[in-house]
Amino acid sequence: MMTAIDLDDTKAAAELVEEPVLRLSRVERHYDEADRTLEVLRGADFELHAGEIVALVAPSGAGKSTLLHIAGLLEKPDGGEVYLGGVATGSLNDADRTRMRRLEIGFVYQFHHLLPEFTALENVMLPQMIRGLGKKEAVKRAEQLLAYMRLEERIHHLPSELSGGEQQRVAIARAVANVPRLILADEPTGNLDPKTAHYVFDALQALVRSSGLAAVIATHNMDIADRMDRRITLSEGKVVEI
Ligand code: ADP
Ligand code: MG
Repeated sequence: MMTAIDLDDTKAAAELVEEPVLRLSRVERHYDEADRTLEVLRGADFELHAGEIVALVAPSGAGKSTLLHIAGLLEKPDGGEVYLGGVATGSLNDADRTRMRRLEIGFVYQFHHLLPEFTALENVMLPQMIRGLGKKEAVKRAEQLLAYMRLEERIHHLPSELSGGEQQRVAIARAVANVPRLILADEPTGNLDPKTAHYVFDALQALVRSSGLAAVIATHNMDIADRMDRRITLSEGKVVEI
C-alpha cells in the first residue's frame, strides 16, 4: 500500500536525521615509545549532531590533534569505533575511508596548507573539481564562498599575497566547498593575533551555521570557546564536557 510505504520511508528518514554526524565509541589510541606506552585516548566517547559547533579545549599534548585525526579518518584508533552519519568506519577499506573523508569531512588546520602556486579562487575550486564538479560550477561556488568570507577583492591573489587572516578564511572556504557534513578544525586561529582570530572565527561560525554543518574546533582561546554551543576537554584520555 502506497501510504504504508510513505510512512515507512518517513520514519527511516527521521531515524537517519537523528544519527549523530560523528560518534566516537570507546576510542583508544596509544603511541609506543622506547621505554613506555603513551596512552593518549583511553575509551573516549563523544557525539556531535548536525548544526552543533563544539570547542575542544585542552592543553598542548593532551591529544586534541589525535582525536581530530581519528574523527577525520586520517588515523585509525587502536580500539573502539568511529561512526560517521551512523556508519561504523572501522571495517571500511582504505579506498572507502578516503572516499568518505572527501565526501563528508572538511579540515581546517592551524597553518592554512593552501597550494602556493594557485590563487585563492583556484584553491577553493580544486577540491570541487577533484570531486567531479564542472569548472563553471566550481568557479561559481568558489566565488560565492569567498564572497561570504569577505574576500571578493582578493580571489585572484596567491596565498603569499594574502594576510594570515585572509589565508585562513580561504582555507575555511576550501574546507566547506565540498559541502561536507562535518568540519574539523585544529587550532584554526592559533597562528593569528587575537583580533584577527575573532574575525576568522566569526566567519567560520557564520558559515557553519548557515550551512547546517557540524563542527569540532580545537582552540586554546577561551573567549572563542565560550561562544560555541558546547565545550569539551580531554581528561585522562576521555572526552568530558566543561
Ligand atoms: P595536542 O594536539 O593536544 O597538542 P597531540 O594529539 O598532538 O596533542 O598529541 C598527544 C600526545 O601524543 C603528545 O604527547 C604527543 O607527543 C604524542 N604523539 C602525537 N603523535 C604522535 C606520534 N605519531 N608518535 C608518537 N607520539 C605522538
Ligand atoms: Mg595539536
